[in-house]
Formats: sequence, C-alpha cells, structure tokens
Amino acid sequence: KLENATIKAELGRASWKLFHTMMARFPEKPSEEDSLALKTYIKLFARLYPCGDCASHFQQLLKKFPPQIGSRNAAAGWACHVHNQVNERLKKPLFDCNNIGDFYDCGCGDEKKATGE
Ligand code: FAD
Repeated sequence: KLENATIKAELGRASWKLFHTMMARFPEKPSEEDSLALKTYIKLFARLYPCGDCASHFQQLLKKFPPQIGSRNAAAGWACHVHNQVNERLKKPLFDCNNIGDFYDCGCGDEKKATGE
C-alpha cells in the first residue's frame, strides 16, 4: 500500500500527545516499580509503534539516549529531547524543553497544582 503522509502525521501527533502527557503525569518521586514500568512502556512503545520505519529510527534513538525514568522532570525532559531529535531529522522546528512544564495537561483535574487549584 502507498504511504499516506497525512495519516502518518496524524498518528505521530496523537502518539506524541499521549507520550508527553504520560511523562507529565509520571510521579515526581517514583517507586522502583514505577520506574521499571515506564522503562518497559517506552521500550515496547518503540518496538510496537505502528510505522515500522519510525519504530526502527526511534529504537536507535533509545540506544543513544537511554530513557530517564528517575523522576517526572527527568522523564519529561528526556522525552522532549528525543522528540527534538526526531524533529531535527524531519527538519521541523525544535521545541524549547524549558517550557515543557505545564504544556501537557491531561485535563483529569485530580492532581493538585502548586497554585492550589
Ligand atoms: P509533532 O512532531 O507531531 O508534534 C506535535 C506537537 O508537539 C507540536 O505541535 C508541538 O506543540 C509539540 N512538540 C514538538 N516538539 C516537541 C518536543 N520536543 N517535546 C514536546 N512537545 C513537542 N514521521 C516521519 O515522517 N518519519 C519518522 O521516522 C517518524 N518517526 C516517529 C517516531 C515516533 C516515536 C513518533 C511518535 C512519531 C514519528 N513520526 C515520524 C511522526 C512525526 O514525529 C510527527 O508526529 C508528524 O510528522 C507530525 O508532525 P507535527 O509537525 O504535526 O508535530
């Protein structure tokens, strides 16, 4: 079947949204079990990502930049960095990872913010 760049991009946007939102909700102080779960998730995400070409590139990236799973900040910063690596390869603008803080909100409304909302 022919490649359809529109559908491929749509899948990418949806996937990145889930990926970064998951990092934004990862515990600030994860248990060892939490960290292992995230590490396993990332590895399987890279392996099972539906676009095969993307998946093999991403697996290479994981070898070069092993997942940072020690805290929410580490995980979110790492995910931003690897997404930027993909952006660079696809000649897309880079995202400022210092602004990742409140950018990904799950809308779940069940976690207290520092502002006390
Ligand atoms: P996307 O890259 O989809 O980003 C969506 C939004 O996320 C942006 O609008 C911005 O608000 C935000 N964002 C951008 N950069 C960052 C960042 N660094 N950190 C946090 N947020 C950010 N496509 C291919 O053609 N070839 C590939 O090899 C390929 N590999 C991929 C591998 C993976 C694991 C994934 C998830 C996707 C891959 N894609 C690939 C899809 C590609 O990355 C884009 O998702 C797609 O091209 C749509 O791009 P976009 O410009 O809409 O923005």
